[in-house]
Amino acid sequence: MNAGSFLWIFIGLVIFNFVFTTVLEYLNDKNWKNDIPNDLKDFYNAENYLKAKNYKIERGRISSISSSLSLIISLAMLYFYGFGFISDYAISLSDSIIIQSCIFFMILHLFTHILGIPFSYYSTFIIEEKYGFNKTTLKTFIADNIKGLIISSVIIIGLTSLAVFVIDFFSAGYWLWLWIGLSLFMLFLNMFYADLIVPIFNKLTPLEDGELRKKIEAYSEKVGYSLKNIFVIDGSKRSSKANAFFSGLGPKKTIALFDTLIEKHSEEELVAVLAHEVGHYKKKHILFSMIITIIQLGVMCYLFEICMSFDLIANALGSSDMNFHIGIIAFSFLYSPVGLVIGILMNMLSRKNEFEADKYAKDTYDGVSLELALKKLSVDSLSNLYPHPLFVFVHYSHPPLLKRLEALSK
Ligand SMILES: [Zn+2]
Repeated sequence: MNAGSFLWIFIGLVIFNFVFTTVLEYLNDKNWKNDIPNDLKDFYNAENYLKAKNYKIERGRISSISSSLSLIISLAMLYFYGFGFISDYAISLSDSIIIQSCIFFMILHLFTHILGIPFSYYSTFIIEEKYGFNKTTLKTFIADNIKGLIISSVIIIGLTSLAVFVIDFFSAGYWLWLWIGLSLFMLFLNMFYADLIVPIFNKLTPLEDGELRKKIEAYSEKVGYSLKNIFVIDGSKRSSKANAFFSGLGPKKTIALFDTLIEKHSEEELVAVLAHEVGHYKKKHILFSMIITIIQLGVMCYLFEICMSFDLIANALGSSDMNFHIGIIAFSFLYSPVGLVIGILMNMLSRKNEFEADKYAKDTYDGVSLELALKKLSVDSLSNLYPHPLFVFVHYSHPPLLKRLEALSK
């Protein structure tokens, strides 16, 4: 093997990823059926069903333009040794290897962030607006971009500094310490997501006393699930689409219902959605997926240390020596096929868990209310009712609506 062969491996992987994604998107597009499924006849008319189709097509178009652009940039960066060039530049600015790596990643981060702005602008203010979902004002959009950029930069600089320090300090066998550090960081983020990150973007208010709260508390008492932190989040600030999220572990468990969800669903439907989420806890899905993620991080750190020992790989990217940031870039290319396979396995597990959580909600609360909630959610968000099975297999973390309804009505 020489540096040239590694370069062609990188190029091959980038092209493979692009072709693979594009073929799947194409199959998924072709799979659309014009007849409205029986289960959903009461929820759709010909007009909004056609709207759902067009929404999907428009979103597909913008995402394929964005992935084509990213293909061209990746190939150009590889072929013209762009990564090596930026690395040399970063190294020329400072003697500290920590600062060098931070500068390198910040240049790439700023570049991709700025490049992404027109796409997210178009998607928010043109597509989502046209289909009546958008509630974001230009002011919120700008504020989101600035806040997002600051938070991601803090995380990038923090993690990079820590990693470069650990690698420099241990010089061999550092993968173990990287693994421990990353795992702790992930757990921390998981614990405090609702306390630290969410309030930067949204307002969380405790769910007021009333019928809904009573029903939720009665349910959680019945199934023996301690539920103290129930919040309403102002999702309507950005979109009319409804959602809910659950975060935290142990006593930090938090449930946030979007105001848009509360507005559109009956109290029974909301409790059913909640019962589904409680099912994830009760069936230990949260715990298991966390353990799997931590194991996966370990494998990544181990492989990364191996990757770092090949100077040839750094040469292939146009850098004369291996260093942390060049190692990360090389690793992200080389790991992509492994990541794809692991992602597919994780999605398979996740889809199985979704069926289990649905069943839990049906057994402990009410299957019909959950069915109703799922139908409304899907119709309201104009989701694709007929995704291609292969697309589902690769990308879907949740089973398609019709499959969930089928399982629920069994
Ligand atoms: Zn779920």
